[in-house]
Amino acid sequence: MAKKHEGVIPVKKNDVLQVTIEDLTHEGHGVGKVEGYPLFIPNALPGEAIDVKVVKTTKNYGFGRLMEWHEKSPDRVEPPCPVYDRCGGCQLQHLSYEGQLKAKQKQVQEVLARIGKLPHVPVHPTIGMEEPWRYRNKSQVPIGRSDGRVISGFYAKRSHEIVDVNQCIIQEQVSDQVMQLVKEKANELGIQPYDELRHKGVLRHVVIRYGRTSGEVMVVLVTRSNHVPHLSELVDMLKENIKGLTSIVHNVNNQKTNVIMGDQTTVLWGREVIYDSIGNIQFAISARSFYQINPVQTEVLYQTALEYAELTGEESVVDAYCGIGTISLFLAQKAKKVYGVEIVEQAIEDAKINAELNGIDNAEFEAGPAEVVIPRWHKEGKKADVIVVDPPRKGCDEALLTTILEMKPKRVVYVSCNPGTLARDLRVLEDGGYQTKKVQPVDMFPQTSHVEAVAVLEL
Ligand code: SAH
Repeated sequence: MAKKHEGVIPVKKNDVLQVTIEDLTHEGHGVGKVEGYPLFIPNALPGEAIDVKVVKTTKNYGFGRLMEWHEKSPDRVEPPCPVYDRCGGCQLQHLSYEGQLKAKQKQVQEVLARIGKLPHVPVHPTIGMEEPWRYRNKSQVPIGRSDGRVISGFYAKRSHEIVDVNQCIIQEQVSDQVMQLVKEKANELGIQPYDELRHKGVLRHVVIRYGRTSGEVMVVLVTRSNHVPHLSELVDMLKENIKGLTSIVHNVNNQKTNVIMGDQTTVLWGREVIYDSIGNIQFAISARSFYQINPVQTEVLYQTALEYAELTGEESVVDAYCGIGTISLFLAQKAKKVYGVEIVEQAIEDAKINAELNGIDNAEFEAGPAEVVIPRWHKEGKKADVIVVDPPRKGCDEALLTTILEMKPKRVVYVSCNPGTLARDLRVLEDGGYQTKKVQPVDMFPQTSHVEAVAVLEL
């Protein structure tokens, strides 16, 4: 490691210097150090020697712009997407897929060592996709206006400016088709796009969901007002053109907010839900259901969690942060009993429906904060042989970790979307008597810098 930077900032704005890139941040920026002072440099890759221009400095780190290469990484590739440099969706298209998988493994290793003080835990090579494109089963496309025309696409990096696109190569093909058709039709019929600044206009977002195993498609039209001029023409156009279309839903969101959908949802045509399967479990997905967006890798992730749980059929299992019960239902097939807990009530309703849909009667679900419900279960005398947690980015609540230590399950399986909080929480469990056996990163979001990993601990 380079010596830690102390006190004096060794560079100033507009300096141009040569650095070698040592690392990649979780945002996909290269890190080059000047006398220990880190500079974050977009588009630079580990191993590259570059000229960097300093664009900003703060006390502990700065930002730079890549000016010229002296040596390029052998893992550098030409990003296939024409708007990659502007769009905020992907961060790693300039790195080969092999390189991405290695970088994600390395990131987990480093964070476990640094934050978790766990340098010796085996971190397996990241399990990637055979075809790391066209995997997203859900697209939320903002609609806007530019030069008097309706545009749609994705937000630019750190902004709400829409980059107008006709295709996105990490989403399903059908999403491209819907996106283009809605844009064309809105232009033709004069349907006003939503104007975020003035809170005026009608069409805010089009959301497309796709059931990969069923081929079913749902289109959600999110509008500011209840009344939408030419709505029936829009519906007819979609019905005529979209193969697999199963559901068209209208959602009204009249709030000034970044949240995409509002509270009012009506079915305009077809069913209220589409279906999809992960492994042998079927799921009903409605417009607002939470559902994993990469179904192929979700199966890999859950198989890993299941394998790590080492169930024999006799166990009582707790699934904390269970969402719509996806992991719970997977585990229920191999356990005696599964108890799922999740804070969003609608998700718990979905979990119950999904259990019934699959004829699973050994899974129970309760809505509430995991850190309140599970301590109560413990007080009531409920036992757990295995506890699975799959928390949001901020990790597990401390009260939950304390309860896990008190309940003393044989095994804890930790599914994480943030290596930093994973490492922090593993340290707490280690200090309480558990040992982390192994960690498996799974690439749920190719071309982006998101890292997902499963860890197993034993008492
Ligand atoms: N295991 C699920 C969902 C994981 S995402 C799956 O694989 O599909 C994390 C989930 O934690 C979200 O559904 C979120 O609503 C839920 N959540 C967030 N804070 C929570 C808390 N304090 N208690 C319980 N659930 C919570």
